[in-house]
Amino acid sequence: MTPNKVNLRSIINQCIFCYQTTDHPSGACSSCQDDLPWLLKSCGICAFPLNSNNQLICGQCLKLRPSFTRVDALFLYQFPIDQLVTKIKYNQKTQFIGHLAQLLTLKLSLPSSIDCLIPIPMLQRNLLQRGFNQAELLAKELSKLTNLPIDNTSLKKRRPTSKQMGLSRKARLKNQLEAFCCSPVPDKNIVLVDDVMTTGATLEAASRALLSAGAHQVDAIVIARTPR
Ligand SMILES: [Zn+2]
Ligand SMILES: [Zn+2]
Repeated sequence: MTPNKVNLRSIINQCIFCYQTTDHPSGACSSCQDDLPWLLKSCGICAFPLNSNNQLICGQCLKLRPSFTRVDALFLYQFPIDQLVTKIKYNQKTQFIGHLAQLLTLKLSLPSSIDCLIPIPMLQRNLLQRGFNQAELLAKELSKLTNLPIDNTSLKKRRPTSKQMGLSRKARLKNQLEAFCCSPVPDKNIVLVDDVMTTGATLEAASRALLSAGAHQVDAIVIARTPR
């Protein structure tokens, strides 16, 4: 082996959180895995973190049921997951996405009879600016691990949703509902893929666009969930 190959190998075998040597395929050593902010108790529909074991559905979903069937989230959006997501988005550390996809497929069970994974799309100009869509990269890694096909052409983002600061949840949702358009996806069972779920307005808007384009069922899978 050349010295270069030895170096590469040692980088691959480092834990992505503590840099200790690990052989775990997810890239996270077992002691870091023990400390990660796993989302253990959450709403059965929107994955909102819940405190009580007796509560199955959050208050928000009881009041107004989302159009998607269920969101699966792996982590609370806390240290060190928040830092990892920031590194992926803003420091181009896209190699971490494969590790997160590994953890997602190891820990979460995808709904049965899925037709395709659809990553939450970005606006074309934002995509050109960043150079990649982290949700699409995550969907590609998940597709490699699960053999589920990706559809990254049907759902499109047509309006910016960035100027949402200071808007109420209702106003954000209205703003987001016009943000996506979708070509026909008749009777498809779809799993949306995104990195972080915050208010759920983006997922709700994408899900409504898919359902109005004929989708049979929409679920979602995300790396991390924040409280609203
Ligand atoms: Zn570690
Ligand atoms: Zn909920």
